[in-house]
Amino acid sequence: MSSLSKQHRNTGITLNSRAHGGANGFSKSSRTISTARRGKRAVKSNGLSAAHVDAIPVVTLILGDGVGPEVIGAAVEVIKAAGVKIDWDRQAAGAGALKRYGNPVPDDLLESLTRTGVALKGPLETRVGVGYRSINVYLRKTFDLYANLRPTVSFKGVHTPFRDVDLIVVRENTEDLYSGIEHEVAPGVVESIKIITARASKRIARFAFEYARRNRRKSVTAIHKANIMKLSDGLFLECARSVAKGYPEIRYQEQIVDAACMRLVTNPSSFDILLLENLYGDIVSDLCAGLIGGLGLVPGANYGDKGAIFEAVHGTAPDIAGKNLANPIAAILSAAMMLEYLGRSAAARKIRAAIAAVLRSGRVLTRDLGGEASTLEMTEAVVQAMRRSRS
Ligand code: ATP
Repeated sequence: MSSLSKQHRNTGITLNSRAHGGANGFSKSSRTISTARRGKRAVKSNGLSAAHVDAIPVVTLILGDGVGPEVIGAAVEVIKAAGVKIDWDRQAAGAGALKRYGNPVPDDLLESLTRTGVALKGPLETRVGVGYRSINVYLRKTFDLYANLRPTVSFKGVHTPFRDVDLIVVRENTEDLYSGIEHEVAPGVVESIKIITARASKRIARFAFEYARRNRRKSVTAIHKANIMKLSDGLFLECARSVAKGYPEIRYQEQIVDAACMRLVTNPSSFDILLLENLYGDIVSDLCAGLIGGLGLVPGANYGDKGAIFEAVHGTAPDIAGKNLANPIAAILSAAMMLEYLGRSAAARKIRAAIAAVLRSGRVLTRDLGGEASTLEMTEAVVQAMRRSRS
């Protein structure tokens, strides 16, 4: 079985902060994700609020664009087969919502997220160089989902140059060059502003170390380019170092991003938890995905103090969208992270075990993994593996 199951006992968030919006081009309103419509919320020992396990949790469901409806549909199917009841609040976002409602972030979506505090989300289209700003980034900022957790773990049966990759990417999710502050200084000259603050750097470092402590991980490596960006990356490192002092049992290391990439593709096992700013985190997590067989296998979660959005690392994959070819595993694993967050750990474990069994057997693999199976066949294989484990 994949060691994913051991990694998500909890997320380790213990900090307090206020949700904030702004600087993103859509709305200036502050939003705080609050309680679910049905069912009480319980505060877990890690400080996260999660739907009370006795109640049916209400979760915002965003199918998304491109392959989103296919892979999120698969995740919903697998959750149902795992025996977990969810009251899905379906909402449109992104290109689909723009087409239907003339707005890529409808108010109903924001209200739903504010109410439920939890979402399972497909990828949303962001045009390159033109058009509206990234809705993914907008949602993370608006709800202050400051910690992006992306576990990248090898699966038996998926053949890659490395066998025992077990990396956790912890990416700061609210600032850096994703601030979206860009302007033309003069014709032919543009400026993009990189924002790094001590507050955001410290809280993401604390998230990484708390996660390490609670999940008994050995080391945290801060990845940076402070030799060039002495002030911004320098501040990020300074904050990571000061937080590291409070966790003497966890080894703290630093590495320049280019050297870290080289080390990742030659000796990935020499890393454990990677702590990165927003942009490096995005790039390095795709690199890490490549180490274990591709984007079709890597889940993700965006955590804030008051809520979370679960989404795969991959984008809309327009080249294979609507063709029943997408690998649904990343979305299903993201759903398993969500179940963990909702206190349904047994179901999450069951799903992960079924995925590990399907991949290990090698009989049903999607094209990205060298097989011929469709999205639906892969989903069905996971459902059947869960049924077999029950009997
Ligand atoms: P976007 O602009 O939405 O980020 P993209 O194509 O630039 O889209 P991804 O969607 O992440 O970026 O896709 C990168 C590559 O990985 C594409 O070739 C895509 O087909 C492949 N890919 C992504 N997700 C999956 C998946 N779930 N199953 C199979 N292949 C995938």
